[in-house]
Formats: sequence, structure tokens, C-alpha cells
Amino acid sequence: MATHQEYQKKVNALLDSWKEEYAAMLTRWIRVPSVKGESADGAPFGKEVREMLDVAMKDCEEMGFATRIFDGYAGDATFGSDDLEPIAVLGHLDVVPVGDGWRVDPFAAVREGDNILGRGTIDDKGPALASLFAMRAMKEVGIPLRRSIRLILGCDEESGWEDMAYYCAHTQMPETGFSPDANFPLINTEKGMLVMFVQAPLSADGLQVLSLYTGERVNVIPGQSVAVVKGDAQTVQKVEAFAKETGLDYTARLTDEGVEITATGIPGHSAYPEGRRNAIGMMLRVLDHLGVEGALKTLASAYGQEHDGASLGIACHDAISGPLTCNMGILHLENGKVTASLDNRCPIDADLDALEASIRIHLPGFSVLEVEKKAPHHVPADSELVTSLLAAYEEETGLKGEAESTGGGTYAKVLKQGVAFGAAFPDDEDLAHQANEFIELDKMICAAKIYANALIRLCAE
Ligand SMILES: [Zn+2]
Repeated sequence: MATHQEYQKKVNALLDSWKEEYAAMLTRWIRVPSVKGESADGAPFGKEVREMLDVAMKDCEEMGFATRIFDGYAGDATFGSDDLEPIAVLGHLDVVPVGDGWRVDPFAAVREGDNILGRGTIDDKGPALASLFAMRAMKEVGIPLRRSIRLILGCDEESGWEDMAYYCAHTQMPETGFSPDANFPLINTEKGMLVMFVQAPLSADGLQVLSLYTGERVNVIPGQSVAVVKGDAQTVQKVEAFAKETGLDYTARLTDEGVEITATGIPGHSAYPEGRRNAIGMMLRVLDHLGVEGALKTLASAYGQEHDGASLGIACHDAISGPLTCNMGILHLENGKVTASLDNRCPIDADLDALEASIRIHLPGFSVLEVEKKAPHHVPADSELVTSLLAAYEEETGLKGEAESTGGGTYAKVLKQGVAFGAAFPDDEDLAHQANEFIELDKMICAAKIYANALIRLCAE
């Protein structure tokens, strides 16, 4: 029998020869604008998403895989017989709305040299198709299997993950596998999540804040915050002096309503606060400096501009997952009340109940409106899954493979033993959900080789 190295050599030669075929198929996939839309019969996420599912499943079928469609929620394609234990590869076919800033039509799949631009190229159609091509090459080489490979393509990853709920309710979800929907080398740890909404009455003492309404989403680091406070020319000068003193971007001007203060920070995602600056935190600091009292002062001293939760008594870290991160994404003043959100991404060993209790203690006068907790997800670094995937990555790239932790959520946690694995490479710019999202064909072919290498290790006889 051939060795794994011999299989891999043949698989890699095939994948190299299929580069233009891959490009053509990805182009077809990108041209279906599978943004979530109005639900219809058999199309729970809109007719474009359903069309995308049909296109992908037909391609899987034409490659000779057994396919199933789950009422427009998801589909799967299996290589290997049903009596084998399946390894899952979990991708998705829906895409986020295009947003601003595109220099090409986001659904035209414009080719520029070796690059293809378009919404969904890296998140997640390109990587999903790379996985499919890996399976196709393994099948063509005739690799005998001891485990089967099941490509599961979801249609609701960007919204509520209803696709996976439906899939799990209608068939057996494999226990083990990976999701090509993040970065290489590999993410085996997802922090736990503790999201809280807190509320307190606005104080009648101290600086009077007339309006302040920043942020719409708990998981966004707001880049700008605007408030109007009672004041005069002196207030404007104080803000300007504070800007000089702190080196931060504050502006203030007198208006008919009062003094309008603008704090400009650096926006981002709450799971990745490093190098960002929360404009709400900046606003709280300047309001505190101007003499605000009560609820806003409490928030200023308990949260301020920290993203480690130290003043809330929740700072912690562990060696596997790194530090806790804390973000205030929403700060609204309405009907004489202050409402704020706290989005905490917590190390896997952290006790979420204890963290919640500490936040309550450090916010006297606040009531808690809502608490949401999500357990962490972790697959041990010495598991067969992680060691096989990292070895595959190292072999195909010559780069060092290391398991990483994230504060974000990946599709992989749908699987009991699931990790995120590619297909963006470590030095790639993060293009998911951005304008002018693109893939480089050679990198996607390399990703396909890595996926085949991993699947040969896990599934070949
Ligand atoms: Zn994705």
C-alpha cells in the first residue's frame, strides 16, 4: 500500500493542475450574492442563500460525493462509506452585506492577476471550496479511508447559526473536525463570554450631561462618542486642556444646547482590544475630569479606559487562553437613566458567576438588566486532531504550527472536538467583512494541500 507521503504527492500535483478550475468555480460561487434575505419556502435565509446552497451541492455531487440538503438550512457532502466514523469540515456559504468602500463590484469576482476579489472570497466560500478540492483530490487518487470525510456547508453562520441548530436536530453531527473559517495555524481555544447590561439613574449633582448616546452593539469598540453637557467657554477650554494633557483626541465647541464634546478613539472588535481605543472609555474619562457625579462617575472609575477589567475586579488570565478582555460597546442616556453594556471575553478557567458577582459589587447603584453567558471551548493541544492538523500545516508551509486562543467565536465550537483551521495565513491582512475582500489563488491551493494533508493523516488507512 502507498504511504501517506505518496498520496500527498499525487494530491498536490492534482491540486496544482486544478488551479484555474478552482478559480472558475469560486467565481461562480462569488457571483451568487448570498446575503441573508427574507425567508421563503425552502429558503429560510432568502432565495439567494438557497441558490448558493444548490450551486455548491450540485458541484459536490458532480465530483462524485453523496450530498444531502437540509431544507435550505445547510447541506453536506460525504467522501467514504456511511459505516465509517466521519471527520467534519465545517464551512459556510452565507456572506455579510457588502458595506462601503469597494473599488470593484463585490459580486463580480473580479480577477486581478492571481487574486480574486469579492464578498465571501475569504469568508468563507474560498476556504470551503479549498476543502472540497482537497476531498476531490483524495478521491481521485483513490485513497482508502478508515474514517469518512463530511463537508458540512451552513447557510447562517453570519447571523444566528440557525443552520447548525437545524442540522443537529435532523442528523447526527460528527464529534470531531475543523472549520476552515478563520486563520492558520489553528485555534483550539475560545474564551468564555459574559455579557451584561447595567442601568442606573442619572445623577442630579455635578456636571449635567444633556445627551450621550454611543454604540449599537456590545461586540464593537466604538470609534467615536459625542456628548452634550451644560457649560460655557471655560468648559470648552477644560476639554482642550485635557486633550493636551492626555494626548487623546477630544474636541469641544459651544452650541445652543450646551458644550458638545467629541471623543475619537480607534474602533475595532471587542474580542481584540489590543491597539484599539474605546471612545466611550475616553468620554467617561473627560466627563469625570469635568466633575460628573453618580452613575457616570462610577462607570468612569470602574471601567474608564481599561480593557483588562482591573477596576471591576475581574482581571485574570491563564496560560492557555491569555487575558480577560472587557469592552463597553454601548453607553446610552435615556429618560434620565444611564444604560451600559459590558462584553467580557474570559479565560477558559475563569468562573463566569464569580466574575458577574464582582462586576455587580464594583457598580454600586446599578441594576443588572440582562446577563448572557457562553461557556468556553477548548480542544487539548495534544489531541490527535490538533497534532495532526498542525503537522499538516508545518509540512505544507514549512512554517511553525502553534495552537492559538481567541476571544472571538468560531464555527468550530459546533463540534464537540472542533478547531478553527485556516484559511487565512498568519501574515495576511484581516479581510473578513471588509471592503475589497480577496483571496490569492496560490494561497488557496496551498490551503487545499494543507487540508488534504490533514485529512490524509486523520482519515486515510
Ligand atoms: Zn465566516
